Formats: sequence, C-alpha cells, structure tokens
Amino acid sequence: MVETLASHPAAAITDEIDDYSWVFGQSVDRLVTVEMRPTGLPYGKIDRLQAAALAESGYRSQTLMAAEALRRSVNPGDAVVIVTGAGTQPFIPKGENDGPVGAAALARTVLQGLDAVPVYLCEPHHADPIVASSEAAGVPIRPNGLEPRTARGAFLETSPTVDDDVADWASQMFDKYSPAAVIFIERLAPNRKGVIHGSTGFAGWSPIVDLTPILDEATRRGAVSIGIGDAGNETGFGRIFDAVREIQESGAVCGCPCDDGMATITSTDILVVASVSNWGAYAIDACLAHLLGRVDLPQPPETAARVIAACFEGGGYEAVFCTQRDLVDGIDSQTSISLTQILKEMVRISLLPTDSGPAH
Ligand SMILES: [Zn+2]
Repeated sequence: MVETLASHPAAAITDEIDDYSWVFGQSVDRLVTVEMRPTGLPYGKIDRLQAAALAESGYRSQTLMAAEALRRSVNPGDAVVIVTGAGTQPFIPKGENDGPVGAAALARTVLQGLDAVPVYLCEPHHADPIVASSEAAGVPIRPNGLEPRTARGAFLETSPTVDDDVADWASQMFDKYSPAAVIFIERLAPNRKGVIHGSTGFAGWSPIVDLTPILDEATRRGAVSIGIGDAGNETGFGRIFDAVREIQESGAVCGCPCDDGMATITSTDILVVASVSNWGAYAIDACLAHLLGRVDLPQPPETAARVIAACFEGGGYEAVFCTQRDLVDGIDSQTSISLTQILKEMVRISLLPTDSGPAH
C-alpha cells in the first residue's frame, strides 16, 4: 500500500552520497534513537521502529536522507512548510513542547542554511508556543501578506477548525506559497478508519482537525515530504504501518470504539524516527549542516535552551505530566540541550581538514 520513493526526484540521489556522510548519518541516527522512557510508557520500541524504517527505505540513514532531500529540493527563496502541534485542553491546552521546539530548529536551518522561507501551518490553539519557539530561535514571524521571498523570516498560518474545510485551505496554502518541501513533526495523524489517536491509543481529542490534506497536496504537487515522530501515530509512519501495528502495544489495539489501533496510514516520502521528535529535527539540522559544509550552522546549545524556555513561556507543556516542569517528553530539558552540543561537535569534526594527527 505504501508507494516507494522511486518516483520522486529524491530517489536518484542516494548513489551520490559518499560513504563518510552515510556513516555520519548513521551516528546521528543512533544518537537520537537512544531510548529513555519510564516504565509506565511503551518502551523497547524505538530501535525496532528505526530498524523497520531503514528496512523499508533501503537507506543507510533516515536523517541523512531527509537532509539530502531538503538540500536537493529546496532552492533559495522557496517556501518550506513545517506542520506541528499536538495536545488539546483540558491538560495540554496550547500543545506540547515536543514539536514546536524541533519545528523552530528546522525553521532556523531552512532560513539560515537554505536561504529559504519557513511556513508554519498549525491549528489555531497551537500557534502561541510555535511563535515563541521560532522567535527564540532567531526566526521572526512576518506579517502574512508580505512577499515571501523578501521576508527573511517565517510565516505562520492557522488551519480551519472544521475537518471539512481543511482540504480547501491546504490547497490555498499551496497556491500561496508553492512549497518545495513539507515537514511534519510530531503531528498526530489518522488510522485506516480516519481516527486520530495518542501514542497509547487514546482518541477523542478536542479540538483537533486532521491536517493530512497538507500531505495530500504535497504529494499531488510534487513537494518532497518528511515525517518525524517517536511513536507511530504521527504523520509519516504509514511507511511502516505493519511494523507499528506489530511493535506498539496500541498499534493495532487502541481501546477506543474504532477498534483499529493508533498506527497511522499517512506516508511521507521520508520517515525519521527519533526517541523524541524534537531530536529528529536536531538530527536533520546536523546532517544538513554536514552536507552543506557549514560548521557555523548547527544550533548552539545556548539557543536550544532559549527555545525550550520560550516554548514554555508561550504556553507549551511537557506532555508526560502535562505541566511546565522543565522536561521534554519526560526527559530533563538539559538532555535535549546537551544533544545539540554533541551534534554541533559531530558536524565540526566531520568538516575538519584531513589530518590524522602525529600518532595515527
Ligand atoms: Zn481507536
């Protein structure tokens, strides 16, 4: 049921990536799929999901492939749509901080690395933490209506609040911005029956709209699509639908009246699995910096810290306890910040001149 990437322009490029870069990407993949989960949540899953994604795609690294697809597809001045936002009232009224923080990191790389124009598309109740995160990352939100190519910043547009209106709106967004690429990060998506679930099978979020028509437009218009997630219910995981149903306890059995599990059928061209979705974004950023040869590009840990703090101030909650505790997916925020330091150093080392030192 899943189309391969063979028909997409990104398909021909894998032969042109050198061995060193693939190994770099594999190291990045490993780093961002290290699992840290309390016993109350599904565990022992990330490695298996990652293995399934690699087996399905045939790529040596999912994160490097995502970065390469962006590098190939996006020209200066092009728009890159970034879709995020998960969680609703009463416990997560403006959404969780896994998603907006990574979206801001990606937007920063899109702007500073590709000289392109990030366009956030989200539900209205998720906008505040996304704006706050983006601005903390140094990516200002410009007034809608400004000529995109002159913006030197991002745009944010909010979706309709009724499912029936989303397809027309998505089409309008593509007419307006003609994005070269679309990235979904931690964006919940429907199963075979059209029902959207949380990672543990909960359904019945309200408000929520299905933003899959954005992916449908991307496919129809030939924009490359990337999905980043950490469970299998997020946009993109349709590429490994059967694996999610098998691996995740709620994959095939949700416990809600739909009785069809949380595994989504939505397939992006490239799927990035990470232990925390934001880490998948950091990983793509690092791979892009490596491929572009830009040692100056990786997000400094100080910026990563600022973005996480701003996301909380903007109303984003951590999603395990649904609070403003200094966590991302139950993991101390400092861990995410430290990860950006490691990735930054991996990029720096990967771009050093050839020199084995005097003793090697
Ligand atoms: Zn269900």
